[in-house]
Amino acid sequence: MGKIKMTTPLVEMDGDEMTRVLWAMIKEKLILPFVDLKTEYYDLGLLHRNETKDQVTIDAAYATKRLGVAVKCATITPNRQRMEEYPQLTEMWKSPNGTIRAILDGTAFRAPIVLPCIKPVVKNWEAPITIARHAYGDMYKAVDLETDEPGTATLTFKGESGAEKTLGVQTVDGPAVWQAQHNKESSIRAFARSCFQYAINQKQDLWFSTKDTIAKVYDGTFKRIFEEEYESTYKAEFEKLGLTYFYTLIDDAVARVIRSKGGFIWALKNYDGDVMSDMVATAFGSLAMMTSVLVSPDGTMEFEASHGTVTRHYYRWLKGEKTSTNPIATIFAWSGALKRRGELDGLEDLVKFGQAMEDASLETLMDGIMTKDLLGLVEPGFQATGVDSEAFLDAIAERLRRKLA
Ligand code: NAP
Ligand code: MG
Repeated sequence: MGKIKMTTPLVEMDGDEMTRVLWAMIKEKLILPFVDLKTEYYDLGLLHRNETKDQVTIDAAYATKRLGVAVKCATITPNRQRMEEYPQLTEMWKSPNGTIRAILDGTAFRAPIVLPCIKPVVKNWEAPITIARHAYGDMYKAVDLETDEPGTATLTFKGESGAEKTLGVQTVDGPAVWQAQHNKESSIRAFARSCFQYAINQKQDLWFSTKDTIAKVYDGTFKRIFEEEYESTYKAEFEKLGLTYFYTLIDDAVARVIRSKGGFIWALKNYDGDVMSDMVATAFGSLAMMTSVLVSPDGTMEFEASHGTVTRHYYRWLKGEKTSTNPIATIFAWSGALKRRGELDGLEDLVKFGQAMEDASLETLMDGIMTKDLLGLVEPGFQATGVDSEAFLDAIAERLRRKLA
């Protein structure tokens, strides 16, 4: 059997530590034997980012814009401790994910990989709940002020035209704390578009919730922009696919999510998404089983695992130990990117291959072969054996080969 052909390359962003080791193994065992892989390769490993003064990250992001699909390995975001660990670093380079997200103007969608032997804490959740978190503004770009006497605060906006708008905030009778937040119409609109795009791509309903009963202007603007985008651009496609766009107050959404069967995308403002994504991820099981897709308003997609570079395992691996690091989220990043490339280029075989990679991975888990992190999560009575990463990937490769034969 000949290898599956690709027409357009996808952007491959290599990364750091244990995930870089898994990256090479996944390619060697699960992809290269079956696919005539075409990628534009960018090495986002910390030392290469340092050598290029982080230009490689910027180049990779622009390449993603150009080619429409990328797959990214987890990368180190240097902090003070890393500066000591890598003395050759000339700067505390910024988070690559932050840089890429800013260039692609994208929204990150985080989805759990679910399977019958690992039941979510919420018993009625049958399908994944994907969280879309708006990643700009609100509390994360707020300014805070402390005052220590009675007085009055006002909020003033000065337009470039010279026009001013001033609002009384509050008069207080003693010490107080203050905060001013903002968001930009353009950012909210890009967020809305990415959400509708991704819902169409995934063929899943989209939920959006804010607290617009209290923040009538602020959250009301989010609600209005989502409605405008839906009505003007996405409604027809949603109706054709039988999908629903559903807006509800966040309190109501929380109650409905808990009672739901899952299987939808839940879009949230920055803070709500920060909190809810951790709750949903924990309730579904493990960070090692969580994928993440960055989606631009124009449908450009970058796939990655949600977890980091698994440093502790890497230092054991360097000493020659075999580790049982879970490659599932990284495999799903690759399969997601290959499927998307296949969809965009009309390559049915490539789409099928991506699906087969996922099916073979889940089958391996359901056959009771898994990495050790999952052993504590499986249902009581389910027979499972913990193996190292290599043996796990070999078991997946064997099933994948059978599927493709
Ligand atoms: P982490 O790499 O996600 O690992 C934290 C712990 O979670 C691990 O020590 C391990 O626990 C467990 N774990 C995570 N993924 C696993 C997997 N695939 N298989 C098995 N166990 C897994 O987070 P971190 O230690 O906070 O961060 C390490 C580095 O990753 C940092 O330099 C950070 O900047 C970077 N990071 C990158 C990204 C990204 O590129 N998207 C995201 C987050 C963090 P045990 O050790 O108990 O087995
Ligand atoms: Mg959080």
